Amino acid sequence: MGKIGESISEIKKELKGYHYNLVAISKTKPFEAILEAYDAGHRHFGENKVQELVSKYEELPKDIKWHMIGHLQRNKVKYIAPFVHLIHSVDSVQLLQAINKEAVKNDRIINCLLQVHIAEESTKFGFDETKLLEVLNRNELNNLMNIKVVGLMGMATFTEDTRQIRKEFDSLKKLFDTLKAQFSFENFDLQELSMGMSGDYKIALECGSTMIRVGSSIFGERNYG
Ligand SMILES: *Cc1c(COP(=O)(O)O)cnc(C)c1O
Repeated sequence: MGKIGESISEIKKELKGYHYNLVAISKTKPFEAILEAYDAGHRHFGENKVQELVSKYEELPKDIKWHMIGHLQRNKVKYIAPFVHLIHSVDSVQLLQAINKEAVKNDRIINCLLQVHIAEESTKFGFDETKLLEVLNRNELNNLMNIKVVGLMGMATFTEDTRQIRKEFDSLKKLFDTLKAQFSFENFDLQELSMGMSGDYKIALECGSTMIRVGSSIFGERNYG
């Protein structure tokens, strides 16, 4: 087994006892790196740019489950709608409407996570808690029958301060539990809590994450050139 396969095995060994889905974040990495993970048995991969996601989908084996994890513009939804497995980064009702429209055209249901802003940095995208409650209370997802909101996604502040990270993940888990108990529609059924990256996946799992998005710990550091 190559180095990438070994990294995945090591993470799985470290996380023995937890129930989670591991999404390998392959952004900026070449086809060969993904194929190495694929040959080691991995099937869930995530990308943050539409164009890169589409070209990797086209070139690589068709049983790969592709996750969109980056900010998504409404006019680009059409490129990924035919095949995307899960969109983690939905941050507006307008985007949900656009996804629904393309899902109808493709005669499929597209699974989505709502991205919630939990970090201190103001640069990170996502709903804030108040806005999200407003959307749900007003039943704004009504009629969007070709999308299904299956969970929430969040990113912690980029910091060494593990107490800060834990606090943010705890707050997202609390929101997840509250919404799950309070809202259940045909197209809104919270199952997945996507939180945790290379630097903080262990904390995220301790805080109740069900899905971790790990890039550099699997593929090595990214080089943006
Ligand atoms: C890049 C990225 C990741 C993975 O980051 P690593 O630190 O390399 O594990 C996870 N989630 C999102 C949204 C990302 O953009």
